[in-house]
Amino acid sequence: MIQLTEEQEMIRETVRKLAKEELAPIAIRIDETGEFSWEVVDLLKKHDLLKLKLPRKYGGLEVDYTTYYMVIEEIARVCASSSMLIATQGSCLTTIIVSASDQQKDRFLGRLGKEGFLMSWALTEPNAGSDVNSMQTRAVLKGDYYIVNGSKCFITGGGVADIYTTFVKTDAKKGDRGISGFIVEKDTPGFSIGKIENKMGMRGSQTTELVFEDARVPKENLLGRQGGGWQILMESIKETRLGIACQALGIAQGALDYAANYTKQRVQFGRPISEFQGIQFMLADMKIHIEASRALIYQTASMLDRGKRDILPFAAMAKCLASDTAMKVTTDAVQILGGYGYMKDYPVERMMRDAKSTQITEGTNQIQRMIIARSLLK
Ligand SMILES: Cc1cc2nc3c(=O)[nH]c(=O)nc-3n(C[C@H](O)[C@H](O)[C@H](O)COP(=O)(O)OP(=O)(O)OC[C@H]3O[C@@H](n4cnc5c(N)ncnc54)[C@H](O)[C@@H]3O)c2cc1C
Repeated sequence: MIQLTEEQEMIRETVRKLAKEELAPIAIRIDETGEFSWEVVDLLKKHDLLKLKLPRKYGGLEVDYTTYYMVIEEIARVCASSSMLIATQGSCLTTIIVSASDQQKDRFLGRLGKEGFLMSWALTEPNAGSDVNSMQTRAVLKGDYYIVNGSKCFITGGGVADIYTTFVKTDAKKGDRGISGFIVEKDTPGFSIGKIENKMGMRGSQTTELVFEDARVPKENLLGRQGGGWQILMESIKETRLGIACQALGIAQGALDYAANYTKQRVQFGRPISEFQGIQFMLADMKIHIEASRALIYQTASMLDRGKRDILPFAAMAKCLASDTAMKVTTDAVQILGGYGYMKDYPVERMMRDAKSTQITEGTNQIQRMIIARSLLK
C-alpha cells in the first residue's frame, strides 16, 4: 500500500532475505536462552543496519525515515529482539543529532562510524516511569565533571552498549526545566551495570539497571544546555515512538503470515481450516488492523521525510494502534494454531510475548492516549 521508491524496494528485499534466512533461526535460540547475541550484532553490522540514521559524513547511510522504519518492520517480522537493536540505536542517534554540538558529533559519531558500537537510551528509574519528572538521579557540576548519583532501570542495551544517552536532574527544584541530557561512556568511573532482567518477552534484548555512584561524567558530555533535557526528550521521543510502532507492526505481520499459512495446512473435519468462515473472519480482522496501523505509521514517517516535525500526537496514535494491534493479532494467531500455538515449537507464542512489550515501552499506551486527548482538546 505504501509507495516505495526502487531503492527502498531493493533495501526491503535485502533486509527481508537477511531476516528470513539468517535471523529467524537465531530468534528461536535467543528467546529460549534469554542470552544477548553478538552474532546478531555482527549480522546487522555487516549490512550497515546499525548505521541507518548515522549521517554520511560519519560513514553512515543517512537513510530517509520511511526506509529506516521499514527496516525495523521487516526485521521485527521474524525477530523483535533484533529489530530492537536497530530501534534503540536510532533513538540514541536521534537524541545526539538533535542536541549535540558539532564537536560532540565529531567525537562520538565519528567513533561510531569507525567502530560501529551499540548505544543505549536511559530515562526510566525505579520510581519514575510514566512520571518522568519524579526522577531521582542527580548530577552536580564540580569542576570539570558532573558527579552523578542514582540509578536507571529497564534499560535496553545495558551492559552491551558503549555509550548511554542519559537523562538526569541537574536542578531538583525546577521541574522539567531541571532535566539535562548527557552522554555517559561505558568506562566512566562510578558507572556500572546492575541487575540484568529476566523478561517475559524480547528475551534476546538485554535489559538492565544502570548504577551511578559518584560517577564522573566530563562536562563536555552535557547535551545541549544544562536544564535543556526536556526539550531534547520531546524532540527525540516522537521519532523513537514511531520505531516502537514499527516493532509492533512487524510482530503483527509476522504472526499473521504464520497463522494464514498454517490455516491452509491444518485439516480438521476433512477440510483445511482456512475454509471455515470463523477463521477467515479472524484473518480478515487481523489484516484490517495491520493495514490501518501501517498506513498511520508511514503517513507519519512521510511527514518527517517532508521536514514536518510537529508529529507528537500522530506518533502517539501510531504507537497505540500498532501495539494494540500487535497484541490482538498475536493472541489471535495463537488461537488459530490451537494447542500448537501454545507450544514453544511454533513462533506465535513468542510473538505474543514480544508484542506485550510494545504497549509498554517508550511510554505506555495510557500515556499515549493522554497525549492524543490533550492535543485534540487544546
Ligand atoms: C522491554 C522493555 C524495554 C525498555 N527499555 C527502556 C529503555 O531502553 N530506556 C528507558 O528509559 N526505559 C525503558 N523501558 C521502560 C519503559 O519505558 C517504562 O516501563 C514505561 O515508560 C512505563 O513506566 P513504568 O514501568 O514505571 O510504569 P508506571 O509509570 O509505574 O505505570 C504503571 C501503570 O500505570 C499507568 N499510568 C501511569 N500514569 C498514568 C496516568 N497518568 N494515567 C493513566 N494511567 C497511568 C501506566 O500506563 C501503567 O499501566 C523499557 C521497558 C520494557 C518493558
